[in-house]
Amino acid sequence: MTQPEPTADPAQPSAGPVSDLSAEHGQHPLHRRQGGPVPDHVRIVDPAKARAGAARRARTGRAETPLALKRRARRINQELGRAYPYAVAELDFDSPWQLLVATVLSAQTTDVRVNATTPALFERWPDPRGLAEAERTEVEEMLRPLGFYRSKARSAQGLAQAIEDEHDGQVPGRLEDLVKLPGVGRKTANVVLGNAFDVPGITVDTHFGRLARRFGWTGQEDPVKVEHEVGALFEPEDWTDLSHRLVYHGRRICHAKRPACGVCPVADLCPSYGLGPVEQEAAAQLLAYEFKPGREDLLAGYMEGRTRRELRAAGHGLSA
Ligand code: SF4
Repeated sequence: MTQPEPTADPAQPSAGPVSDLSAEHGQHPLHRRQGGPVPDHVRIVDPAKARAGAARRARTGRAETPLALKRRARRINQELGRAYPYAVAELDFDSPWQLLVATVLSAQTTDVRVNATTPALFERWPDPRGLAEAERTEVEEMLRPLGFYRSKARSAQGLAQAIEDEHDGQVPGRLEDLVKLPGVGRKTANVVLGNAFDVPGITVDTHFGRLARRFGWTGQEDPVKVEHEVGALFEPEDWTDLSHRLVYHGRRICHAKRPACGVCPVADLCPSYGLGPVEQEAAAQLLAYEFKPGREDLLAGYMEGRTRRELRAAGHGLSA
């Protein structure tokens, strides 16, 4: 795996939020749009610094040492932790069973839709036994908003039956048991382990894989290989939070088609800087969710520590 040269001193611990622009270039567009002073949780990268790093990497083409890669990776994780201190699993759940079902149902649809559908499902059938014995047509009707509702109803009931038959109605807390359940792959198993059992897990979904490659942490496409290569860069206790942060960053700033490089808090640590617009006003137009213009109250709610359910109850839609 050939890695690019890191930017200047990327491995050095951050002295805290960086706000070069606020002094040198006026207020950053991301925060101007949020209508207030520069919040101290998001790092502001001087575009000259990001450009210089990209130019140097292109010029030298030298491989990054394993130690430099690890340090840069950890610095990125640290900065993303500052940018998204409220990052958690985006699926609502109150138990391992609920998270398992919600994760299985989230295939080919959005977490927002799943969160709108599962409260009624779990109220009607609170446990695996209830769901396993339910009328298939009633389950299908409840899952209709998710699309592919016939196959999802079949999967959910098959899963419920297997947990009832093989695990006495309790979701197992081991990877090797979870992946034997029908419809449960490694990604789903890691979501459940990391978020419902506090067992460290890396969840390689489309956002995680894309960002890990853009960061130069791996060149692999296969999710299991990505999981192993990225896992080696971090301590296991960081794996679950890292997974959330990459998903948050992928959904809000580092989009698949047009990443908002010009307002990215890890621009000077990223070998892919420049994939998307580097001009700040253009990049700011691409922001999503709580960073989107007009959603300042949502960001403030997250920063105050309000839960997703509380924010929804207060009238905040949580979609992009
Ligand atoms: S938005 Fe751009 S600079 Fe930021 S992580 Fe993505 S590709 Fe890298």
